[in-house]
Amino acid sequence: MLILLDRDGVLNEDRPDFVKSPDELVMLAGAATAVARLNAAGHTIAVVSNQSGVGRGLMTQADLDAVNAALIEAVASAGGWLDAVIVCTDPPWAATARRKPGPGMLHEALTQFAAPPSDAVMIGDTLRDLEAAAALGIRRILVRSGKGRASEASGLPPSVQPVAVYDDLAAAAAALLAQGVA
Ligand SMILES: [Mg+2]
Repeated sequence: MLILLDRDGVLNEDRPDFVKSPDELVMLAGAATAVARLNAAGHTIAVVSNQSGVGRGLMTQADLDAVNAALIEAVASAGGWLDAVIVCTDPPWAATARRKPGPGMLHEALTQFAAPPSDAVMIGDTLRDLEAAAALGIRRILVRSGKGRASEASGLPPSVQPVAVYDDLAAAAAALLAQGVA
């Protein structure tokens, strides 16, 4: 299946001031290995990530590219790979439908991999990740890493239910693999 991953708070530590350089990229425990396990089971993995730090002028596209290259390297070190890294650099005040909670990036991933929504799952740490997936009828998983615990505590509205909740990407991946959804 197509597994859509938010980046910050799912694969790497979320930073309120944005991950602006490879030095600021801190992988979450077990995340890279989880990706490798999902790869090995035959899943396609696409990152769909809001990166408004570029649109806000806090970092450049080249900075973002360098961070994502470091992310890809970290995943590769665990024996895994990312099939696509899709980003949206829109600032919130000029958001297009690509910026989550808009479904644009998720739709692009479905199209790129010719996957129907029923064969996809979104894993994220914020409500907007879940909203973007719900808009397309994509299955939803919340992880408690990053902003996830706060997102869960805030209450998840009926519009995004049902949502499966796991402690982190490693736990979510283990559950997906146990369900035999390869
Ligand atoms: Mg996030």
